[in-house]
Amino acid sequence: MRQIPGAWHRTAAGAGLVGSDGSIHPTIFAEMSALAARTGAINLGQGFPDEDGPSEVLEAARDAIAQGVNQYPPGRGLPDLLDAVAEHQQRFYGLHLDPSRNALVTAGATEALAAALLGLVDGSDDEVVVFEPYYDSYAAVAALAGARLVPVPLRWPAFQPDLDELRSAVTDRTRIILVNDPHNPTGAVFSAEVRDEIVRLADRHDALIVTDEVYEHLVFDSAHVPLATLPGAWERTLTISSGGKTFSTTGWKIGWVTGPAPLVDAVLAVKQYLTYVNGSAFQPAIAAGLRLPDAFFQGIADALRVRRDLLGAGLRAAGLEVSTPAGTYFTVADAAPLGATDAAAFCRELPERAGVVAIPLTAFASPAGRGQYATLLRFAACKRVEVLEEAASRLAALR
Ligand code: PMP
Ligand code: GLN
Repeated sequence: MRQIPGAWHRTAAGAGLVGSDGSIHPTIFAEMSALAARTGAINLGQGFPDEDGPSEVLEAARDAIAQGVNQYPPGRGLPDLLDAVAEHQQRFYGLHLDPSRNALVTAGATEALAAALLGLVDGSDDEVVVFEPYYDSYAAVAALAGARLVPVPLRWPAFQPDLDELRSAVTDRTRIILVNDPHNPTGAVFSAEVRDEIVRLADRHDALIVTDEVYEHLVFDSAHVPLATLPGAWERTLTISSGGKTFSTTGWKIGWVTGPAPLVDAVLAVKQYLTYVNGSAFQPAIAAGLRLPDAFFQGIADALRVRRDLLGAGLRAAGLEVSTPAGTYFTVADAAPLGATDAAAFCRELPERAGVVAIPLTAFASPAGRGQYATLLRFAACKRVEVLEEAASRLAALR
């Protein structure tokens, strides 16, 4: 009998993603949503909205199904969605794309990330520089691709990287600088200085930039600046986004990548054997969403800002310290003033103590980096106002 599980598990066990005995851990999001369901606690853990997105988008999916858009779309995606992605990049960022060469539809940002790393990592000496804490799939797909992850820490409370640490992390071994801006789980938006340094370092060390910008329209106090718009960045940058957050359709898994044709083709080469294609009827619906007027995009950021403020006030009133996020669904709070020393243990007890579920920041860190996030928790603000108010009143029990 051949060994079960296979080689990926050994790599992943080294990265702390599965047990050393090969046992599979559920993702932190699955674990914490199950805890919320079991205890009836308010789920401020997994980041998904509890309201439907724009009716135009939902209607467009229903129409597409009724009109028979139910078979495989083309491998690169429906031309209508590729066109809409190109129009969106032009409208918001002034980027001019050839939709047939510079864009590709994927099964969410998750598949785009996996296919990008699998398609672009060149050899086992390749390093992928990431900002820690990082979205959980980054370490998993870097392990799948056989690359070494090199974390650059983001520290409480501003969560901007130290430029010297960034400079020493990027070397000639760096194949990819993997950026997530706006950043999950911290809610940070990188400063212009940081963005410039990333591009400069990529150029100096001939590294590629893969940038996950799924929260591009959830920025509160400034306009989002895609890394690909910086001077010298386009040729080496692959930009990933998705309709899930912008249109409150996280279950549809329609994502896309944009960039220079050779980089997009490298993703396509892998993607076509991962899923080939997905979500035919959802593709024209996301195209309709991307063509909504500017007021829609401003409106979702404004609505989320109100919720961020409500959540932040509730957390402060409960005795936690809060890092006010500049974007995303998420707010990080420090539970040290409440005596927390182990964020994961604190999160497991939180439903019992306060009827609320959060995610420990340690779940987004490498085994070596976890210590610096030991008292930090991530709360999601993408919930109805009355749910956030109820959560705030429950959290008051912690005081
Ligand atoms: N990247 C980040 C930073 C995310 O937060 C998420 C999901 N919330 C994803 C990627 C995955 O996006 P999708 O659901 O489109 O696969
Ligand atoms: N991206 C969402 C979050 O960060 C959830 C994603 C997931 O469940 N895999 O909470």
